[in-house]
Amino acid sequence: MRAESQPLVSVTDVEKHFGDFHALKNINLTIREREVVVVIGPSGSGKSTLCRTINRLETITSGEITIDGKELPAEGAALAQLRSDVGMVFQAFNLFAHKTILENVTLGPIKVRGLSKAEADTQAMALLERVGVAPQADKYPAQLSGGQQQRVAIARALAMKPKVMLFDEPTSALDPEMINEVLDVMVGLAEEGMTMVVVTHEMGFARKAAHRVVFMADGEIVEVAEPEEFFNNPQTPRAQDFLSKLL
Ligand code: ADP
Ligand code: MG
Repeated sequence: MRAESQPLVSVTDVEKHFGDFHALKNINLTIREREVVVVIGPSGSGKSTLCRTINRLETITSGEITIDGKELPAEGAALAQLRSDVGMVFQAFNLFAHKTILENVTLGPIKVRGLSKAEADTQAMALLERVGVAPQADKYPAQLSGGQQQRVAIARALAMKPKVMLFDEPTSALDPEMINEVLDVMVGLAEEGMTMVVVTHEMGFARKAAHRVVFMADGEIVEVAEPEEFFNNPQTPRAQDFLSKLL
């Protein structure tokens, strides 16, 4: 499957500095269509920064990132359009607090994709159905559980018809009993062939859904391997040390 699929996200020789701090060092990573890549590594290793550079929430110091062959423009309408190709779900459920669940999902498609309200409503209800929160459509985010809010965040991202979905620790802020309801939605997406980059500490998800695991430490990609290989036979001392602390 992956042998024939096209590179969708290409990260080439990327460096990122925050002032004197070297946050991303010589990052090279290609994500192919339909591929699920799990990014793991210690806190502060640059996982979130990498995600944020992929949709230009952060600028890069040097190097190049392309989505479907196109470099992200620096700003303006072209950036909004290309950014909508990259769906993002964060650790914090950053829904619009003063909009209903339905409005949270329809806003982007109406504003950026140019859908009519009726079209956007129909699409949004189907997505809310799919993530299991359709009955909550007219409620406000604060009336939903964390797991429900995170599933709405996934529906909202999907409503933009992204080419790739980035998840940055989507279950880290959830109570344990809600983690699986979010992971199940993500596993479903992976099975349907969505291209995904997932930063997570959920090793069960990585084993079940990932095609490749990317291990980062100190701003570098230290190891890239298939999940079974990575978990059973990590090659570097840093990966061995990280995995031993998870158990
Ligand atoms: P991770 O997601 O792997 O925990 P991050 O990508 O959030 O790591 O952060 C990597 C490093 O970059 C950390 O040391 C963090 O303090 C630093 N960093 C992240 N964002 C900024 C910023 N806006 N300004 C300065 N340093 C930052
Ligand atoms: Mg992070």
